[in-house]
Amino acid sequence: GKGIPLNILSADPNRKIKQVIAIMSGKGGVGKSLVTGLLAVSLRRQGQRVGILDGDITGPSIARMFGTTGSPTKSASGGIEPLRSKGGIKVMSMNMFLEKESDPVVWRGPMVSSAIKQFYSDVDWGDLDYLLVDLPPGTSDAPMTVMQALPVDGVVVVSSPQMLATMIVMKCIHMVQQLKGVIVGVVENMAYFETPNGERYEIFGASNGTELVSMTGAPLLGQLPIDPSLAALCDSGRVEEYYAEAYELLAANFISTLKI
Ligand code: ADP
Repeated sequence: GKGIPLNILSADPNRKIKQVIAIMSGKGGVGKSLVTGLLAVSLRRQGQRVGILDGDITGPSIARMFGTTGSPTKSASGGIEPLRSKGGIKVMSMNMFLEKESDPVVWRGPMVSSAIKQFYSDVDWGDLDYLLVDLPPGTSDAPMTVMQALPVDGVVVVSSPQMLATMIVMKCIHMVQQLKGVIVGVVENMAYFETPNGERYEIFGASNGTELVSMTGAPLLGQLPIDPSLAALCDSGRVEEYYAEAYELLAANFISTLKI
């Protein structure tokens, strides 16, 4: 069956963070961070309490997308106060600890692992419906380290039309299995380009949502268009000003799929 075993998802009503969902992609550049950011924006619009933990320690991009700058401060309870976007999304990213945003982070696995653990447990996230974890791209040690450092309830795989040919989706599936995780959904990014009069072009090859579903056994949560206007918004920290029906649909599917 195509259904996912929802009972695997944590059902403890007392947990302050109801679900920790990692966002993964088999390689860089498919839009994993962007999809994480925009999913958070749409979830927030639909009334959910959302945090983003930027697990990409060496190449963080979430804070920039939201324009959340500044160093984190101490919270009332003595933890680290996450930064807040204009729309009320809580964000924790390595950017905040760098003197200059362009400073490189040259760390080994164990250091990344302990930083991530602190991003989870020392940060005062408060009550959240979803904590989205933007994993480092690929299927190497880096995403593994992050996955293992956190109590991840489910994984969303972001793919693009070219990815199936290279079997990268299979690598994602194997990595999640190796970590005894569950793929709770797949998202196809850059699925098509739509002209102002509604014509659709599949620029990067035929859309392959159904194949993704049969390979992962997880539902297709969304098929997202290529939108050239996104780059400018992301570069200037205004990702929350973006609105597109496809992302609202993605968020709605996400909520209904992950409902406990
Ligand atoms: P990843 O996290 O997978 O490495 P990013 O989210 O950083 O990828 O995206 C890579 C680049 O592609 C960014 O410049 C981003 O703005 C752009 N991009 C991603 N998805 C789309 C899309 N659907 N439409 C237009 N540009 C996109």
